[in-house]
Amino acid sequence: MIEKKVGKGEVAFKVTHCGVCHSDVHQARNDWGNTNYPCVPGHEVVGTVTAIGEGVSKVKVGDIVGVGCMIDSCQKCEYCEADEENYCQGEKGATMTYNGPMIPNGTNTYGGYTTDLIAREEFILKVPGKLEPEYAGPIMCAGITVYSPMRHWDLKEGQTLGVAGIGGLGHMAIQIGKALGAKVTAFTRDADKEEELLEMGADKVVISKDDGQMKQAAGSLDMLINTIPVPHDLEPYINLMKPDGNIVIVGNLVKFPEFSPASLVFKRLSIVGSLIGGIKQTQEILDLCAEKDIRPAIKMIDIKDINEVFENLANGTTEGHFRHVIDMETLRN
Ligand code: NDP
Ligand code: ZN
Repeated sequence: MIEKKVGKGEVAFKVTHCGVCHSDVHQARNDWGNTNYPCVPGHEVVGTVTAIGEGVSKVKVGDIVGVGCMIDSCQKCEYCEADEENYCQGEKGATMTYNGPMIPNGTNTYGGYTTDLIAREEFILKVPGKLEPEYAGPIMCAGITVYSPMRHWDLKEGQTLGVAGIGGLGHMAIQIGKALGAKVTAFTRDADKEEELLEMGADKVVISKDDGQMKQAAGSLDMLINTIPVPHDLEPYINLMKPDGNIVIVGNLVKFPEFSPASLVFKRLSIVGSLIGGIKQTQEILDLCAEKDIRPAIKMIDIKDINEVFENLANGTTEGHFRHVIDMETLRN
């Protein structure tokens, strides 16, 4: 038990589940060149409150709670004030759940592949009663990361949303896009996923390796959420857009090969980026998923299987599993 360490305004919880995000792989393997070792990944963290610090009113001992990608921010810049702590412009920016310097002492933060976690109350998410704890974690990163741009760039009922790369983020985008009333086209390399994606709610599945299918889908999308985690040619995706469309980049943080801006100019297209979402909006998508029966498709794993899961994520071969969730009891045993 860790009650003694809980400070004013902080919440301690026993971690029961943690989703495995592709970002965990990027960070652990230093794909972004900014990893501070030792690195403990995990930002889809769920558990049971074991202790609360002085002044905490949001939750009580025994509640099921979670932490997503952030555990702190300045709380006073214009972005924090607007419930967009993810874009905090305070001196240190938002403190990420792992690999973020912890305020105030500069120590590295360690994420959810662990038994217990402490975070300040403002960054604690409440898991709705209707939502089974094992499903909650992936909504706190994968879910919010695709929901936030749909809201920010105002995806409207009846518009067409494309989703490129159907893994953890992509399969949540299909379901959330449908719940918002969009028509959804899934772009995947993997024809074996087709039936499952249609069952999940996709109106159409396009095999992205098939140039003929890609050409047929040209000019069909109002918004594209691109979750592909590696550099790739953007040109075929630009061709999918209707005029005024938004291509939202959430996956590739490294670089894109060159492409001609002509196709942007002639259709007044925007290529934009988006980082997770604020705490208020993350709570909103948790509540929406609970209410609309949206659930990530998960495979529960033992902590000892994590290296194999990382390897498969890095290779893009997850064998039809959209999100893995670690059963943290397996770390205690
Ligand atoms: P997954 O690995 O679960 O899904 C990515 C999907 O992209 C795969 O299922 C696959 O889909 C496709 N893909 C994988 N490898 C390749 C490849 N080499 N070439 C083309 N397509 C490929 O990852 P996540 O959904 O967890 O994360 C996706 C990306 O989003 C990661 O880079 C992650 O770091 C980033 N991310 C960004 C966030 C943000 O705030 N912006 C937040 C969270 C994650 P298919 O087989 O259908 O083609
Ligand atoms: Zn993530």
